[in-house]
Amino acid sequence: MTVIGVETLAGETLRIDQSDLNVLTANMRGSLLLPGAPGYDDARTIWNGMIDRRPAVIARCIGAADVMACVAFARERGIRICIKGGGHNIAGLAVSEGAMMIDMSLMRGVWVDPKRRIAHAQAGCTLGDVDRDTQLHGLAAVLGFVSNTGITGLTLGGGFGYLTRRYGWTSDNVRSFELITADGRLRRVSDAEDPDLFWGLRGGGGNFGVVTGIEYDLYDVGPQIMGGAIAWRAEHAAEVLEMFREVNENSPPEHVCVAAIRPAPPAPWLPKEIHGKLVVALFVCDTGPIEEAEKRVNAIKSFGSPLGDIVQKRLYCSQQNLLDATQPNGRRYYWKSEYLPGVEDGLLEKFVNHGERIVSPHSAILLFPLHGALSNLPEEHSAVGNRETGMVFNVAGSWEKPEDDKANIAWARNAWKDMREFSTGGTYINFLNAEEGDDRIRDAYGKNYDRLVEIKTKCDPQNIFRANKNIVPKS
Ligand SMILES: Cc1cc2nc3c(=O)[nH]c(=O)nc-3n(C[C@H](O)[C@H](O)[C@H](O)COP(=O)(O)OP(=O)(O)OC[C@H]3O[C@@H](n4cnc5c(N)ncnc54)[C@H](O)[C@@H]3O)c2cc1C
Repeated sequence: MTVIGVETLAGETLRIDQSDLNVLTANMRGSLLLPGAPGYDDARTIWNGMIDRRPAVIARCIGAADVMACVAFARERGIRICIKGGGHNIAGLAVSEGAMMIDMSLMRGVWVDPKRRIAHAQAGCTLGDVDRDTQLHGLAAVLGFVSNTGITGLTLGGGFGYLTRRYGWTSDNVRSFELITADGRLRRVSDAEDPDLFWGLRGGGGNFGVVTGIEYDLYDVGPQIMGGAIAWRAEHAAEVLEMFREVNENSPPEHVCVAAIRPAPPAPWLPKEIHGKLVVALFVCDTGPIEEAEKRVNAIKSFGSPLGDIVQKRLYCSQQNLLDATQPNGRRYYWKSEYLPGVEDGLLEKFVNHGERIVSPHSAILLFPLHGALSNLPEEHSAVGNRETGMVFNVAGSWEKPEDDKANIAWARNAWKDMREFSTGGTYINFLNAEEGDDRIRDAYGKNYDRLVEIKTKCDPQNIFRANKNIVPKS
């Protein structure tokens, strides 16, 4: 007879036999995967190859009722759970050793109501799932830059992408969540129906329950936009980055430029002889009317002598896929990040200095602009806060072999330490790595932290939902 050991909230091992597991499967349309079963290893594997953890059981849910059954089963027995959305969290929060994983990644339905300009997406969707279906109507939700990232982790932590300068955090553009809370109830959470919980869900991560669906506001975008990537030799980094600073400060929110310094990837649009050599690149996306957008991107395209340039009229969906190949599943990743008020004097010099010290051909330092609509709302509008942020930098280490861990992690930490002097003091909860704990979580939420603790204490006093950047309830 099958018997498994599952970790409890108290840190003990609970033995569960087949008859007990049958109680759960009888209440599910989806299936349970135990170690050794076909599909178990695929389901436990996430984007960051540094994370290699083995849940005791994986529940592959295919509807809200499955999730309710799992939460009830776990709560009654005091079992630790973790929740997997798109599996793209750098800290590997989707998977915990010995826990019961609630795997949402089969729940990928999207329903678009073009008249009301709303999309309802199931919680296991990737960004690409939502973009594909909304773009059929020339509409888009405010999502991030890499299409296989999960919508739910991204939205619960705030979320930003090419539309953020126009419309704010992803979470500012959520109408409602469908959520299963620790008491086992299925709730619709919106400003009208549960304002406190709605406030917390918009930034507070997976602390308050399992989200089964999200309703997003949609905007007119594309399908054709002006966008793409353009790169120059690193020798010209200072001039290019100065231009990037000016463009950012002076362009309307429709125009977004992300800067990166990194060794050139073997991309077909870059000459072979430059592959592996340091370049400075801009990822440009202009969602304004095409004629105006064209003028703005032409100013960038004619700057200096680019090594390669694929900034052109393109489908918004293709823009949203542009960076995917740089972020394959299974590589080793380590990030350090910080919010910035903007590009202050001295920052760009450090950006280049640390770019020159990159130790892996896959690593990069990136600057993402955020200023614009974020600051139209007050800091306390929702848990994510950080509304005075102008930019975020991410030191993104990416390499292949475990023996290179030490050198790559040391590079990222050093670059972050040195660039941190420009920080607003805040940091993005969704970019915190596995070792970043309570002090960094407090940095991420600033003065919104105390209200998050209140909501957590009310809504999940036993801290059932703790496989996240955890807000610990008051005892
Ligand atoms: C390559 C890459 C690109 C990225 N680009 C961006 C970007 O452009 N903009 C941006 O804002 N962020 C970006 N991020 C960060 C991203 O927002 C976070 O990593 C986020 O946590 C990913 O969500 P996920 O569902 O894929 O992750 P997972 O690892 O599956 O989950 C992350 C956290 O969310 C919780 N969670 C997931 N699903 C649920 C659910 N249904 N209910 C409750 N809790 C849940 C998990 O428990 C976990 O704590 C990027 C990350 C990567 C790796």
